[in-house]
Amino acid sequence: MNTPNAARAAAPGRLFYNGHFYTGRGYTAGALWAQGGRIRALGGAELAAAVPPGVPRTDLGGGWALPGFNDSHLHLLDVGRGMDAIDLFGARSPADIAARCRAFLRQNAVPPGRAVYGNGWNQDLFAGARALPTRECLDAAAPDNPLLLDRVCGHIMLCNTAALRAAGITRHTPDPPGGGIDRGPGGEPNGLLRDNAVALVRGLLEPETQAVCAARWRAAAARAAAHGLTGAQTCDVRSRDWRTVLPALQSLDEQGALPLRLTLQCAMDTPDDLRALWAAGYRPGAHGKRWKMGPLKLFLDGSLGARTAWLRGGYADAPGRHGLCCMPYPRALELARLADAAGMQVIGHAIGDGAVEEMLDIIAALNAPRGGANPLRHGVVHCQITAPGQWARLAALGAGALVQPIFLDYDHTIVAARCGKTLAATSYAFGTAVRRGVPVSYGTDAPVESLDPLRNLYAAVTRRPLAGGAPWQPDQAVTRAQALGCYTQGSAWQEFAEGEKGRLAPGYLADFTVLDRDYFSVPEHEIPALRVLRTVVGGEESYAAGG
Ligand SMILES: [Zn+2]
Repeated sequence: MNTPNAARAAAPGRLFYNGHFYTGRGYTAGALWAQGGRIRALGGAELAAAVPPGVPRTDLGGGWALPGFNDSHLHLLDVGRGMDAIDLFGARSPADIAARCRAFLRQNAVPPGRAVYGNGWNQDLFAGARALPTRECLDAAAPDNPLLLDRVCGHIMLCNTAALRAAGITRHTPDPPGGGIDRGPGGEPNGLLRDNAVALVRGLLEPETQAVCAARWRAAAARAAAHGLTGAQTCDVRSRDWRTVLPALQSLDEQGALPLRLTLQCAMDTPDDLRALWAAGYRPGAHGKRWKMGPLKLFLDGSLGARTAWLRGGYADAPGRHGLCCMPYPRALELARLADAAGMQVIGHAIGDGAVEEMLDIIAALNAPRGGANPLRHGVVHCQITAPGQWARLAALGAGALVQPIFLDYDHTIVAARCGKTLAATSYAFGTAVRRGVPVSYGTDAPVESLDPLRNLYAAVTRRPLAGGAPWQPDQAVTRAQALGCYTQGSAWQEFAEGEKGRLAPGYLADFTVLDRDYFSVPEHEIPALRVLRTVVGGEESYAAGG
């Protein structure tokens, strides 16, 4: 693991044999010789015989190797943070949330006064009434500890009374720009904070030390490798804490402790923040052994589940509400122009059609002086609620779409209610996107969804919920080859790496994922149950089942 690069290039590499390697047109049965981190050769028995006897060998046991999965948008460090937090995923009621908080405080002997973070709750999973929970449900369980509990989407936070009090939030506190403080009938804050309002309480949490941050990176990266990911484009560089987050990641990389390659999406809030990041050496193109700087990420709206996604026509199930425009056009464009001028790619989080339109306008404005060409591959993240014509515009702009088919698993239950049937009918049109030639890449937005690429592929290919049931807009399904292409070549394109990632071919990086069965021929419903046997990055094993 610690071999210097020069020594590694001259090293004999490793032969992986007794496997099937997907080459884009079926499989090559046999062997792959990795050397210097790249694929030197692929072949059958003749290759295994030709490789010098001194080359170490790994028996793949007849496994089925695909180009390594590359998640084009997630929050890997937040996955690690969630592993240390109160786990509220799947909570069935406000009382269940409270019980989990109470148990966490007791089991961890948290002293009174210390603020605690949790995440994963979703009121749409509640049995019975699906109203948003409020602070009252938490106060008996945690009278003395501020609780900061992110909804699964990360766009709405539930706080208890202790948290509001500690942060000094009262009925007189105004809503910050791009954020909302929900209030009860008497005008008192009810504990729910939306988008930019979360900044009012975040300072209550103990700052994360570099050592703690590194441990979280490490834990999450190990989990990603176990899911077969060889790469991830992770959005963890933020204005508020990049000074801890980046050195923590670098320390792991220098120890050779990163089991996958990371491209860092940077969610900076202001031009000054972006300049400060660059001044510290993290300019476009900066990289380590297994990490590199990626695009600027603009947060343009919230989420559909929290009703903070920006819908131009308003919410069908909340009349008068349109969601949030988290970064108004002039501010977003100023930031985007600064990045673009420095050769930095720009991507925008856009879930509602209002935010999608804003990002398309930004991309058009950035590319106008170039005659509309999009050499920096500016793109749209999520791109969920789309009006007729928006995919055509995206295709015409040559913009990438970083989408999450697995979102349908939950969203199909709410999309028509939130947006109305007409807009729902043209949304999540990921098949249209592929057929129009939009460069589409797949991700999970973990921890919003599990890191698992196989569930995501299943959703793209079947448009069915994981629990079974009828497909949602089955005409938007794609073939298995198209879906895999989005997860590998599509993701590689999004990070300018299509010349060395996303395919198994000589000269490409030796990054691959070995499954127990053939993704292409198992019955559709078994795709989520395929097992990852091995994950190999740069010819080195980063995960082995049972190992
Ligand atoms: Zn995200």
